[in-house]
Amino acid sequence: MGALIATWLMAENGAKKAIDLLNAGKPSHKALIELIKDIEDDVHYKSVGYGGLPNREGVVELDSAFMDGDDLSYGGVGALKNIKNPIEVAYLLSKEKANNFLVGQGAYEYALDKGFKPCDLLSAASKKIYEDEMSKLDDLKAYDGHDTVGCIVVDDKGKMCAGTSTSGLFLKHAGRLGDSALIGSGLYVDSAIGGASATGMGEDIMKGCLSYEVVMLMRTMSPSEACRVAVSNFSKKLEKLYGQARDISIVAMNNKGQWGAYSNIDTFSFVAAGYGEEPKVYLFKKGKDDHPFYTLATKDDIARLQALQR
Ligand code: ASP
Repeated sequence: MGALIATWLMAENGAKKAIDLLNAGKPSHKALIELIKDIEDDVHYKSVGYGGLPNREGVVELDSAFMDGDDLSYGGVGALKNIKNPIEVAYLLSKEKANNFLVGQGAYEYALDKGFKPCDLLSAASKKIYEDEMSKLDDLKAYDGHDTVGCIVVDDKGKMCAGTSTSGLFLKHAGRLGDSALIGSGLYVDSAIGGASATGMGEDIMKGCLSYEVVMLMRTMSPSEACRVAVSNFSKKLEKLYGQARDISIVAMNNKGQWGAYSNIDTFSFVAAGYGEEPKVYLFKKGKDDHPFYTLATKDDIARLQALQR
């Protein structure tokens, strides 16, 4: 048995596989890698792994990280080209004594050394979107409805882990890193407390080290309250400083398998399963005094979200 939470509707299928593994007694990291690989391998998801949208030069560059909540070990890859499952590379890096965060060519060579096979990540569909959009290049903007997968898992021994995987912002500068592979910003987990993971505009999420902030708040607050306090206070600060807060969404789970989420956008979906539950797709909603509530996604909601993400 175990529990998990992951960003966006795209995590639904992988979450089912992950829960099956947890129910079969497998450890949290196996479940998490299964969930994330399911998305990385699916060519239809335009923001993660194979079929991800490319940078301005038409090259797909992937960012990913893994963190173990028991010993706080961490591995990350940034701007990794031609490797389909960066989460597996990040996991292996978390086992190294040093050199845990590799970028670009160094990350690629490490993956090859570990036996990963090179592969062209740009699908025909992503290439077409790239060519269409390059002609009307405007401000960089996180794509609506289908972004980074960020996931927290706890298993029946209470061992927690967190992971992320993304192709980052569409049409980003070559070599650009966002929050997703960065410990403390895109993800953080401590099995003594809980874990959190973010999605949205990396340049804003990094300013607040928001996943670390949420985990520290969970020492005294529920996951849902911790997400609300971190996202809404930080969004207000960004509004004061810059006149606007760009997209920020966060999911969190504590070591009892209780979960929460918060967002400063209207259409944030996520997948969650408490201990002993099947994963379900939820939509985040803002209620009275900005307190969050979560509704189960209806068939219509899912059809609408699928149209956005495929
Ligand atoms: N946070 C990711 C990045 O900035 C993108 C996303 O989650 O949409 O690269």
